[in-house]
Amino acid sequence: MTSLPAPLRLRLDSAALVDNWRWLAKASGEAACGAAVKADGYGLGAVAVVERLAAAGCRDFFVSNWIEAVQLLPHLPEGADLSVLHGVRDEDMPVALASRARPVLCSPEQIARWRQAGGGVCDLMVDTGMNRLGLDWRGPLEDWTHGLAIDTLHSHLISADEEEPLSAAQQTRFADAAARIPTRRASLANSAGIILGRDYHFDLTRPGLALYGGVPREECAGAIRQVVFPQAQVLQRRRVIAGDTVGYNAIFQADADMEIAILNIGYADGYLRGFSARGTVRYEGRRLPVLGRVSMDMIAIGVTDAPDLHEGDWVDIDYALPEAARQSGLSQYELLTGLGLRFDRIWS
Ligand SMILES: *Cc1c(COP(=O)(O)O)cnc(C)c1O
Repeated sequence: MTSLPAPLRLRLDSAALVDNWRWLAKASGEAACGAAVKADGYGLGAVAVVERLAAAGCRDFFVSNWIEAVQLLPHLPEGADLSVLHGVRDEDMPVALASRARPVLCSPEQIARWRQAGGGVCDLMVDTGMNRLGLDWRGPLEDWTHGLAIDTLHSHLISADEEEPLSAAQQTRFADAAARIPTRRASLANSAGIILGRDYHFDLTRPGLALYGGVPREECAGAIRQVVFPQAQVLQRRRVIAGDTVGYNAIFQADADMEIAILNIGYADGYLRGFSARGTVRYEGRRLPVLGRVSMDMIAIGVTDAPDLHEGDWVDIDYALPEAARQSGLSQYELLTGLGLRFDRIWS
């Protein structure tokens, strides 16, 4: 660790994160509202996210694997639950058996492993059509799960972010599975699934994306607040002469003399090449364009309209997720989870 400030930072808005969770909790109706914090809290930092959401009343958290669980558990308040969505491998068993986190058992093999070892309360995933993770809904669910102490039965929606008859089919399959398997709770909805309405809420919802400012459906566009605000420092300001090109492969050519600035952020930080010639940044209310190709550690921006921007100043990278997704061709999920380790993460 060093106290040297990084030349790029993520400003993270605690109030917006908590407001988003509260909005999703309200939209979840009678159901409890949890939080998916896998992939280090979608890139924000899982520990910081859990601390803030737990303080707001969130009691159910979800990670993908046991490495994530082990890192998070010391920060998980008493009374909060952690479920590990990918279940348990052989390698995980010593850790899982001794842990207060629950595996979400996904296959007959995982169930056998958990049973043989005398594992305690678990969760269970049933696949209702995605063909990704979970027991096949058409299989002998009663036989597979006989005698298990199941806290929460889960399934995952394929395309809750679209108008899609598949969601209703999955809802019916899941309700049927939940009636066949004795469990304390049932949980189907991710962020977009919450918007689909009360039939999808069951006992517990599992939003991820929308907590962090993602907008999976138009219905929540006005309600979900941006949480992540990347900022980068100016490394150099320079004058470019008409006819000069900027950056790799010369994809930008100046048609007149102009001023540019080089910023300390690039594709190694998750600001991927989809932003080349399309991204924008702000300085004191002015919108400035990304010029040419994004490099590994740098971008160039046009600053003719910002004569007061100097080496060492900071600019805001436009990163409202729906808009940034349109600019870059990346999904809102990729825009979050790709954010690299070189940012200082600074919570307000
Ligand atoms: C990641 C994940 C979620 C959260 O989904 P979002 O679309 O980010 O809201 C919920 N459930 C499961 C099983 C997941 O893997």
